[in-house]
Amino acid sequence: MPLSPEQKQELEKTIRAFVGRPIGPPRAGRDAVNEPMIRQWCEVMEDRNPVYWDAAAAKNSVHGGIVAPPAMLGAWTMQGWEMRLGYDEPKNEEHRLHKILTDAGYTGVLGTDTEQGFTRYLRPGDEVTVSTVIADISEEKATGAGVGYFITTRTTFTDQNAEEVGFETFRVLKFIPSQPRPAASESSAAAQPQKPGRIKPPMGHDNAWWWEEVAKGKIPIQRCKGCGKLRHPPRPMCGACGSMEWDHIAASGKGTLHTFTVIHYPQFPGYEFPIIAALVDLQEGTRLMSSLTGCDPKAVKIGMKLTGEIQHDEDGFALPVFRPAK
Ligand SMILES: [Zn+2]
Repeated sequence: MPLSPEQKQELEKTIRAFVGRPIGPPRAGRDAVNEPMIRQWCEVMEDRNPVYWDAAAAKNSVHGGIVAPPAMLGAWTMQGWEMRLGYDEPKNEEHRLHKILTDAGYTGVLGTDTEQGFTRYLRPGDEVTVSTVIADISEEKATGAGVGYFITTRTTFTDQNAEEVGFETFRVLKFIPSQPRPAASESSAAAQPQKPGRIKPPMGHDNAWWWEEVAKGKIPIQRCKGCGKLRHPPRPMCGACGSMEWDHIAASGKGTLHTFTVIHYPQFPGYEFPIIAALVDLQEGTRLMSSLTGCDPKAVKIGMKLTGEIQHDEDGFALPVFRPAK
């Protein structure tokens, strides 16, 4: 049910009152900056910069000791699993704002962009506290996802001396999802607009070639011409030797499932749900994000052998997918 102009005015007045409001009291991180967390983060991110984990190398660097990767900033104050609580019974001002919009029909939420800034490197022992303010709510906007409001929060990270060490802005679109179209009956099928296709990946200077190879039926892997190291996703420079010269090979398509997640919601048009999003270790040694098809989500097992193939969407878009190996 669309809101009347009076109801919308009332809603906007209510939500605007949230702008400038902290979402709650400042919150201290559960642990001080520490080496085990830094090591684990670097391992997962495959960041091998020794200033983050090798005490001797770090001592001889400009930092004079181990520092935390700046991009880890948010990790020091993450709430953990308790974060899942709060959307039915709002626990802070941000939840309350979201619930007001949800109750008014703006049920969709979509993260749109984030910006981070770092003032200084954190070192083991630093204690990080976080405070978040609802910084901005846009006018109502019409977007591809539906009509809604962009809500920007600004989070400030401070240390044990109350000095800012960095910030992060985060913007979400809280929107009324576009109405699903009624199913086409036989007679009216021709009058129905075409079924929407999948959202296409961004293709730029560094990666368009990869998709062009996929369209030819291959799963390509970029190869350094300097040292022969394979890499994925495509990028201009070799992380091992610094060479900018490269060519590519075609993967055999053989791989094993490194990890996966099953996506049920939000259900965007153009996709079959649930999606089994799979991180695949290719036999050649690189890793690829893909989808697993031809497999019951309950039967998926980490380590299972997979075979790659090129799937062609109805609109002709070619995409590598994997299925369990026979
Ligand atoms: Zn190289």
